[in-house]
Amino acid sequence: MERYDAYADDAVYDPEGSEYMEVFGGKDPGDWVYCAHCGKLYQMGWYREEGAKQMCPFPGCDGDAVTDPMDWRGDPPEEAGVSIY
Ligand SMILES: [Zn+2]
Repeated sequence: MERYDAYADDAVYDPEGSEYMEVFGGKDPGDWVYCAHCGKLYQMGWYREEGAKQMCPFPGCDGDAVTDPMDWRGDPPEEAGVSIY
């Protein structure tokens, strides 16, 4: 899975460990989603670990990667980090 420059240095790609995928399902690793907090597009399976929490993969965003990923139904962006807001 491509690591785009926009992701935080400590972001990891770990769909197996993704709480979103475990709890909600319905998405495949690599499906594009956007963060409800920062509005930036990323691919399912990426997140930052902050203690026991899985956070949005972008630096400084306080959105999480469990309840904040929103379905993206548009065309796939050229890279992660594009904001839809
Ligand atoms: Zn975010």
